[in-house]
Amino acid sequence: MKSIMYHYVREYDPVHPNFRFLDIENFRRQLGYFDKNYGFVAQDEWQNYVANGQMPDRDGKVFLTFDDAMSCHYDFVFPELVKRGLWGIFYVPTSPYTNDLILDVHRIHLLCGAIDGAELFSEAMKLVDLEMIPDAKRKEFHEQTYTNQTNYEGVSEFKRLLNYFIDYEHRTGFIDVLSKVFDYEFSASSFYVEESQLQQMKNAGMIIGSHTVTHPVMSKLDKDDQYKEIHGSFEFLSALGLIDHKTYCHPYGGFHTFDDNTISLLDAENVAYSFNVEYRDIKPNDIKTNRQSLPRFDCNLFEHGQAS
Ligand SMILES: [Zn+2]
Repeated sequence: MKSIMYHYVREYDPVHPNFRFLDIENFRRQLGYFDKNYGFVAQDEWQNYVANGQMPDRDGKVFLTFDDAMSCHYDFVFPELVKRGLWGIFYVPTSPYTNDLILDVHRIHLLCGAIDGAELFSEAMKLVDLEMIPDAKRKEFHEQTYTNQTNYEGVSEFKRLLNYFIDYEHRTGFIDVLSKVFDYEFSASSFYVEESQLQQMKNAGMIIGSHTVTHPVMSKLDKDDQYKEIHGSFEFLSALGLIDHKTYCHPYGGFHTFDDNTISLLDAENVAYSFNVEYRDIKPNDIKTNRQSLPRFDCNLFEHGQAS
């Protein structure tokens, strides 16, 4: 059995010409490809596996998961799944619903989508202050200060500056300043699936799960802060009546992004199953041995799944 991970599935948007996304047409083609070559796991087959470890009759069948609750999941993915009688699991970070702000991880995608990478990076380098970089990383930052400004594309350097060098506590303010320089305005309400839309999706048979409150790298947090991320997000989703059982997905994914505290907190929260990113099939034993870190493939590993 294979679980597949998707992020942005949408149409070309001229305001964000450099944006990386899976075109809805390719998503449709990929669903056709899965149908023909693997078949889809029915939702009761999945629940049966979770409850009893029983695999579907046919090997290698596929089901779909969608991370981050971007509005395209309601606008494009949801109607397509309904039309085909399919279901999916949608993992929602909850802070945008309470503070009306776009998460930094997504603001970085938007800036890179709207603005030329080299321009973005060169402006960011003008604004960065050594104070924003933790002591332990300053030497490495100096060594890599990008003096040869003709020899880079900008996007990967820009992402590295924001995701790796600049301390998290300075990052939000830094992105605020940078977006002002480029006159770029963020709108949280149009970026994410709305609450009422999540409700509609749930009512139509989609599964809604937690993707933390603020989408941090959980392994960087202590147990108390991890608890707030996990418990707080489930509390929010439960209060809206969006969940019948608890499922969770590790932000970013990969074994380095969570730790033993995360797993024990998920168990304590009575989470039925969680997804990691690990490119292999789900095996009969996984629900016993890796219940809180089930493997998942990126959609780009299969035909028609490459980003535009
Ligand atoms: Zn995510």
